[in-house]
Parts: sequence; C-alpha cells; structure tokens
Amino acid sequence: MSVRVRFAPSPTGYLHIGSARTALFNYLYARHTGGKFLLRIEDTDLARSTEESTRSILDGLAWLELNHDEEIVFQSDNADKHRETARKLLAEGKAYRDFTPKAEPNEANVKDTIKDRARANQGEKNMRDNPFRDLSVEESDARAEAGEPFAIRLKVAEHGRTAFDDAVYGIQERNYHDTEDLVLLRSDGHPLYNLAVVCDDIEMAITHVIRGQDHLTNTHKQVLIYEALGITPPTFAHLPLIMAPNKGKLSKRKHGEVVSMTTYRDAGFLAAAFRNFLALLGWSASEEQEIYSLEELVQKFSLEGIHRSNAVFNFTENDPRKWTDDKAQWMNAEYIRTMPVEDLLRFVKPELKAAKLWRDEYEDDDREWFEKTINLIRQRFFTLKDFSKQGRAYFSEDYDFDPAAIEKNLSKFPDLKTWLPELADRFEAEFADKPYDEENIEIVVKAFTEEKDTKLGVIMNGARTLLTGVAVGPSMLSVFEIIGLDRTIMRLRSQVAWT
Ligand code: GLU
Repeated sequence: MSVRVRFAPSPTGYLHIGSARTALFNYLYARHTGGKFLLRIEDTDLARSTEESTRSILDGLAWLELNHDEEIVFQSDNADKHRETARKLLAEGKAYRDFTPKAEPNEANVKDTIKDRARANQGEKNMRDNPFRDLSVEESDARAEAGEPFAIRLKVAEHGRTAFDDAVYGIQERNYHDTEDLVLLRSDGHPLYNLAVVCDDIEMAITHVIRGQDHLTNTHKQVLIYEALGITPPTFAHLPLIMAPNKGKLSKRKHGEVVSMTTYRDAGFLAAAFRNFLALLGWSASEEQEIYSLEELVQKFSLEGIHRSNAVFNFTENDPRKWTDDKAQWMNAEYIRTMPVEDLLRFVKPELKAAKLWRDEYEDDDREWFEKTINLIRQRFFTLKDFSKQGRAYFSEDYDFDPAAIEKNLSKFPDLKTWLPELADRFEAEFADKPYDEENIEIVVKAFTEEKDTKLGVIMNGARTLLTGVAVGPSMLSVFEIIGLDRTIMRLRSQVAWT
C-alpha cells in the first residue's frame, strides 16, 4: 500500500507555526515512504474562508518548499458528494432527520443551554434524547416532503465505543455515550466539517491522517462516520501541541505575528533553517543532532519519532527584540554561517536590493570582493536582515554610528580624534607602493601603536567604530582590507562620529 497523506488547512487566516509544522510532518512522511503529499483547502466555512488566506497559505508552503503532489482539492467543490453521502446514511437508517427549528437565542433556550451544560458536567446529559431520533420513516419522509426544514444527524448507537490505535498516542477510546448525534448536514444543506473531511479523505484515498492533537475529539466523531459507511479508517497520527512559553495555548489572536510564517520570512529567516527548526518542534531522531538538511530529515523522519509531550515555542512576549525563539535564531545563524557562500549570495542579493544597497558589479567586476565580504561578515549574523543593517557600512557610505560604540571606543580616548586621521595619513604614505593586505596592515598599525605608546586595542576599536559604525565585528585586519584603502583613509579622517 503506498502512503497518501494530506495537509488540509482551513483558509481562515495566514499560515501559522502549528499548521506549517503539520504540513512539514506530512511532507516528510510522504517523501520518506515514497508516497504522495496532497493539499486540500478546507474552504467550507464560507463566512470565514478568504482567497487571500488561501494565497498566504500557498505562499508559506512555497517558501518552505513543501511542494505538493497532484492537483489541489478545494473542499467546497465536493459539497454535492458530501450531501449524497449524508443522504445515503439517511436512507440506510444510519442517520436521521432532525426537524428541530433553528434555535433563536431567546431567554428560555439560553437557560436550557445552561441547564444542559450543568447536567453534562455531572455526566447526566443524555446525548440520545433528540425527539426525532426514533421518528418513523413514514413520518420523517412525510414531513420532509411537506417542505419542513431538517438537519441530518448521525444516529450514534447507545452502547459501545470508538477506538483507534493512534500512531503517536497509542490506543484511544471513547464511549459512544460521550458523543452527541453529530450533525452531518445543516438544514440549509451545508455539509458539516466532520462529514466533509471523512468523505474527502476517502475520495483522496488517504492512508494516514497526520494532524494536531486538538483534532482528537473530531477523530472519534470521524471514526463513527467511517463505521456507519462501513469503511476502514486511515491510520491516525496526532501531533503534540505547540505551546507558548508560559505553557499556555499558542493562539493567532493572542500572539499575532509571532505565530505567522510570513513574520519569519520577512524577518530574514532562511526557509531551510526555519524548516529545520519546525521539524524539531515535537519530533526528534534518537540522537543529539539538531542541524538537518532536508534530505536528512526525509531520510530520518518517522512517526515513532514524534513526541507525546507538547512542544514549546520560546519567544519572549512584550519584548520586540526577542519576538522569536532563541533556538530558531541560533539555527538561522548556523545556516547563514555554514551554508556554501554561493547559495547564501542568492538570498543576500534581494535583501541588499530591497535596502537599495545592491550594485550590479557585485556579480561581475567586484564579484570576488563581494563574496569575500559576505563570507567575512556572515560569521556573526543571525538573519538576512543583518546584511543590510549591521552590514550596511560595507556597502554604503551612509551608515549610522552606534552611540554605545562611540562612547566605549572613541569618547573615552580623546587622543584618537587626532590619532586616527594621522593613521589615515600613515596608510596613505605606506601603501602608496605596497599591497594593502592584512600582513602589511598589521605591521603599520603595530608600529603606529608603539609610537603613540598606547594599546593595540585602543587603535583597533577606535578604527572599527569609524569604519563600521559598531563595536563588534570580524577581525579588524580583515575589516581594513575589505573596506579597502581609499575608504579606510576617508573614514579615518572623517570627524562625523565625533560631533
Ligand atoms: N482544516 C482543519 C484545520 O485547519 C484540519 C483538518 C484535518 O487535518 O483533518 O485545522
């Protein structure tokens, strides 16, 4: 039997972390087993589904490179089939018509609901007390023919239990007693969620349903529908929840952009790094390794490796500098630091373009310099944004000075105000006829430091602040060389940082 899995998002918002992780696990399982990864857009909630949301989900999947097989299925296209299935169950006596008028929220039935809930809490609620459950076929047909509106409900047996062997959580059981006669078709003919999912999963020949643990209750209801249809359900694998740092529920409403995939794309995360990060939210191979290429993930992924305990997404709320998970940042930095530089250039280019720092020479005449520069500065960067922000001084004369760097490296050493322009003169003289490279630069700067009877660090840190605007960065000798002789001289002479 060849594996067929599906990712089935409801297009009622952007792609969030939890859904992206579900998509990834389905994708990995399909690729690992040589099966198919299908995409179904569950757009049956007409009031809340939007095309914009569908687009943003597709964008998110494309960014993560989770390409699906076969054509996208739109659930709303299958509504007739869903209705047909409900009618078939009705004809077979496995479902019944419920003629209860649509409830108006008046005071009387609000009170009833409260009473119902209280009774249910005490375990007293009778889920089988619908007055239409045992209506004779003749009467039911007659009332329907007379045009009386009705919903179709599944007729759940009084005694017994649903059971399935979840690939992650093991045997799951639930007494029929605890499940209501669920509505399959609303009185306006609209098929409801559980019916639609079962029909589509059957139609698409899905073998494994991999989805969030928050669907466990639905799964029991869906198993009831499979039983009524006489069809063996697929294997279910429920994924642990992803929690907020306080172990509360991660929610779109409360945590907003923190949980949206586009946030990470726009913040300069590499898709490969974020995918790697998502893979470890609730899954691990039995080893310490944390950095996995996509090929390795595909090779190592298994349902057995999925955790039962909830995962935590460790962002710090209310601190804009720490809106993302430390581990996600660390992982992104690892990718930036270690990926082949030619690959990284492809991502840096659009970043510099967007910041108006790009020059076409970087791809021909200055290619070597550009590659060397990126290679040097990436060592300390966390996101692609860093190339245009912290890295700005390498690509433009218009860069800012960090006040803390000025304070620490310049203001405390007033002599530097004359020394650094003097160093510029020295460079101009010394390098008129010898190569401006690290080795020679070191000799010149050391000699200069000794003349001034100061520490090498004082000169280097001061120069770093003037040349790059910040207090930290790569080895200063490499920075001098990369910035180049002309720009070094100009920046060492400049007094803007001192004013
Ligand atoms: N459409 C559902 C959701 O977005 C998923 C249904 C399923 O995977 O069965 O949560």
